[in-house]
Amino acid sequence: SAHAAIIDGKAFAAGLVTRITTAAARLRASHGLTPGLAVVIVGDDPASQIYVRNKGERTSAAGMRSDTHRLEETTTQADLLALIASLNADSGIHGILVQLPLPPHIDASAVLDAIDPDKDVDGFHVVNAGRLAVGLPGLVPCTPLGSVMLLKDTLGDLSGLHAVIVGRSNIVGKPMAQLLLAESCTVTVAHSRTRDLPTLCRTADILVAAVGRPEMIRGDWIKPGATIIDVGINRVPSADPVKAAEGRTRVVGDVALAEASEVAAHITPVPGGVGPMTIACLLANTYTAACRSAGIEPET
Ligand code: NDP
Repeated sequence: SAHAAIIDGKAFAAGLVTRITTAAARLRASHGLTPGLAVVIVGDDPASQIYVRNKGERTSAAGMRSDTHRLEETTTQADLLALIASLNADSGIHGILVQLPLPPHIDASAVLDAIDPDKDVDGFHVVNAGRLAVGLPGLVPCTPLGSVMLLKDTLGDLSGLHAVIVGRSNIVGKPMAQLLLAESCTVTVAHSRTRDLPTLCRTADILVAAVGRPEMIRGDWIKPGATIIDVGINRVPSADPVKAAEGRTRVVGDVALAEASEVAAHITPVPGGVGPMTIACLLANTYTAACRSAGIEPET
């Protein structure tokens, strides 16, 4: 039977990181400018600690400045806003990322919207969402940005293709819809109230799954020859019952990969598909923000 080609996000991301590292070195040599990223974390959520450490290490490895600000769980919103204000004013910092989730006593959207939009490398600021919606240059959320890079690398011109995006979050689904509209796809955004999702998905030339439900999208939901972008990252018990009983887990996407591979032409695996693109795009956005801060055209 037919078998989909795997879209190797890990390899594409490695190439992108290499290009950014080279471009950042040239920026330093030509303009004496080192891109700087500040990551802010509040509290000690173990998963968030790992993400933040990883972001710091990857930023340094790309030859950029990396500052990590670790704040107590009990930090007040006023203190966090004061830190954001000082980072906004720091000319050596071109990107500011506040690790989510924030503790419940802090209004996350107030904090995100306090970041200078030109330093908002996560692209979550309402001004960057607006710029994306009206087609102005801005900073684009990393996961959808990386997903569209993979689609263009796989398919070339996307114009006229029907893209179905399952999920409408502000960080994945909605910006993905804007980016694909900008690529002249015909875009449908589905969500938990969508009627007959399988039938809708079967009309998709490009199917983007950003739901957070393990293997929800089945093989028979997929149009033969479609390209599948699986954004989902879901931790489930190990497939081996002995290991599962020991509490071992594995990571799966929102798409049933084996079934979908029998029908689709191209598919991103989980892990190793979209995931590695997210951090690569964070580095790309930091580099882009540094270039723009000095009125320099980014290279990549
Ligand atoms: P959210 O929980 O914010 O959004 C999930 C969306 O899925 C919502 O719009 C929701 O609809 C929709 N949904 C939920 N259940 C159903 C259903 N049964 N049928 C159809 N739609 C449904 O998630 P995120 O967008 O933040 O993340 C989505 C997934 O992507 C998660 O698995 C997350 O871990 C992963 N992720 C991966 C990243 C990466 O680096 N690769 C980065 C960010 C996220 P409604 O709006 O109606 O509630």
